[in-house]
Amino acid sequence: MRVTVDGALYGTYALSEERTVQIDTAYGSNTLRIEGGRVRMEEADCPNKDCVEKGAISKTGQIILCLPHKLSVTVVNEGEEAPDAISY
Ligand SMILES: [Zn+2]
Repeated sequence: MRVTVDGALYGTYALSEERTVQIDTAYGSNTLRIEGGRVRMEEADCPNKDCVEKGAISKTGQIILCLPHKLSVTVVNEGEEAPDAISY
């Protein structure tokens, strides 16, 4: 699972590891919850809460967007989390 803020990589996290990820940026605060191999936006202080209402995602390629915070959460294949993945 990859988190980007304003197009830049914020961090990568394994979906297999249960944890809460607090993301505080100049745009606002988001709380991600990784549980049971899925990730969801547990809390956010954005005005529309679209990201919270999106619910949990778990499949490669699924995305949670928080547009007001310029934040995106993308499920990526474990092992393919290296930035600028090599193309074969
Ligand atoms: Zn949001």
